[in-house]
Amino acid sequence: MASDMHILAFDLGGTKIASGMVTFAADGTLAGGAPQNTSVPTNSTEGGPAVLQRLVDLASSQLAELGAVDAIGVGSAGVVDSAQGIIVSSTDLIPGWTGQRLADALHKVQAAPVTVVNDVVAHGLGEAHYGAGVGYSRVLSVGVGTGIGGALIVDGQPVFGAHDVAGHIGHVMHPLGRGVPCSCGTACGHIEPVASGTGLATLYAMRCGDATTTIANGRDVCELAEAGEPLAISVLTEAGRALGEALGGAANLIDPDVIVVSGSVTNAGAVWWEALRAGFEDSALQLTRTIPLVEGVLGGNAPLIGAAVAARQHLHNHH
Ligand SMILES: [Zn+2]
Repeated sequence: MASDMHILAFDLGGTKIASGMVTFAADGTLAGGAPQNTSVPTNSTEGGPAVLQRLVDLASSQLAELGAVDAIGVGSAGVVDSAQGIIVSSTDLIPGWTGQRLADALHKVQAAPVTVVNDVVAHGLGEAHYGAGVGYSRVLSVGVGTGIGGALIVDGQPVFGAHDVAGHIGHVMHPLGRGVPCSCGTACGHIEPVASGTGLATLYAMRCGDATTTIANGRDVCELAEAGEPLAISVLTEAGRALGEALGGAANLIDPDVIVVSGSVTNAGAVWWEALRAGFEDSALQLTRTIPLVEGVLGGNAPLIGAAVAARQHLHNHH
């Protein structure tokens, strides 16, 4: 009789490294529900090697507490070579993260198979298999938080593309972003620098014409909007609409069955969601306009569950 599969999962981002045990029952369901989530700060400014050591230390303490596991799954910031478990490219979110060999380092902690995928891909896998994407075969998952990320999951498997870059919806063009520097280095007009959480603050500063504004992030803009401040409401509307238009373009290009939108900015409220949907409907073709645009349901557990899904897929492919 098949037994439960225990996978130790990690979600490594610029702010924190989260971890939890994900248990799959023999029938594929999540045994024990959402993972017990523990985390440590990434301390990204200490640089790549130090961050990798923090991941290894967290893995050691987790394994000591939780016992042996069947596999380890990691969702990490950066572009990942999943076959090697290496970070092949990364922004300055974690300086020196490029080149870090996660799989090798974790193998030394425990001789279990290690699977590493990009954190946005992990998020998409989680929502596609156990969240808002259940029942759909082509899932476009979009995360709108500090940045904007995306992943395309087809028949349960991530689409990586020729350079492991597929899904980078934050780095598509929108006229609203023209001239605004993007995290990728261009200022040609990507959507991320004006529609992410950080982008909401940038757009607010641009529109009020005061570079010394104390509005530091998307949450500040949302709080002002909730209090009825007209400029903040107009910024949420403008950014939501622009992202909706970009998603409409993505829908026309990819034609997914569903678009799942997650991340802190999705808590911005009705003003943002209505603008998002209006922009989407104006941009999408008649047939893609009917694609459901839904909110993710797994929250912060999505990348952990998705990293575990990736590890499970890896095990199945090798047995
Ligand atoms: Zn960009």
